[in-house]
Amino acid sequence: MKRQRTVKQAFSAAGIGLHSGSKVTVNFRPAPADTGIIYTRTDLNPPVSIKCEPEAVRDTQLCTALVNMDGVRISTVEHLTAALSALGIDNLYIDVNAPEVPVMDGSAQPFIYLFEAVGVQDLPEPKRYLRVARKVRVEDGDKWAELNPSAGGFQLDLTIDFNHPAMERELQHFAFNFTGRGFASELSRARTFCFMRDVEYMHAHNLALGGSLENAVVLDDYRVVNPDGLRYPNEFVKHKMLDAIGDLYMSGHSILGSFKAYKTGHKLNNMLLRAFLSDAQNYELISWSDERADERAETFEFIDARSTELA
Ligand SMILES: [Zn+2]
Repeated sequence: MKRQRTVKQAFSAAGIGLHSGSKVTVNFRPAPADTGIIYTRTDLNPPVSIKCEPEAVRDTQLCTALVNMDGVRISTVEHLTAALSALGIDNLYIDVNAPEVPVMDGSAQPFIYLFEAVGVQDLPEPKRYLRVARKVRVEDGDKWAELNPSAGGFQLDLTIDFNHPAMERELQHFAFNFTGRGFASELSRARTFCFMRDVEYMHAHNLALGGSLENAVVLDDYRVVNPDGLRYPNEFVKHKMLDAIGDLYMSGHSILGSFKAYKTGHKLNNMLLRAFLSDAQNYELISWSDERADERAETFEFIDARSTELA
């Protein structure tokens, strides 16, 4: 039986905020079962908490933000959420002293590294999964995304379509059978990417003050500008898949089913998740204590951080 998880002990990390360019500190604390993932803005008086759930997600120009009823926001949550998905962490308190989570290197790898070093803690209660019961599809122009029932754990198949000399056609499709370890090795290091013209626009409008070649792949009209190049030959599509994994984990539950998408992004992924959860016929919430427990969830291997040696 797989159990719900949290982090083994409280710890903190610091980094640069993408929006402000200032140093941001984030504290992670263990949470009991069935808490979910709760962000708290400790820079506000009194502090404001926002639960990570699909209805709170807003896609902004730069990142994914969680926004509450009063308009209080916490930005740049998407890569951390993707890392939590791979670690199998479903309960956690995350305190930030700014309106954003540090951008780190623009990928999920620094979060994986930190959580592996500190360790995760299994809780007594069984883990719950969202099993796709029937097809759900959303479209936006020529872009689309869908969830389908499947015989395995969680499969992803994603295609991007950029017409750019640095993005070869055959490197714009990727299929992946989700495991935590596979996420860590195949996807977690893929960085966010943007175009030089967007960077110029954003800086002219005082946006993304913390954005740099340290936390994004930047493309000009012909090539990758970063002196060290790419981390994977297909880093672009892999980052889009990392994003999708984070976006689909905004429910706080791993999905049993297959995800397929064309030219998708945060906005469409969130539309898909909301459409999926809007009708109880679309899914089943299953766990091991359940009669409907499913051996297919056995294929779901999360990162076993407890066995990881400190480097
Ligand atoms: Zn991203």
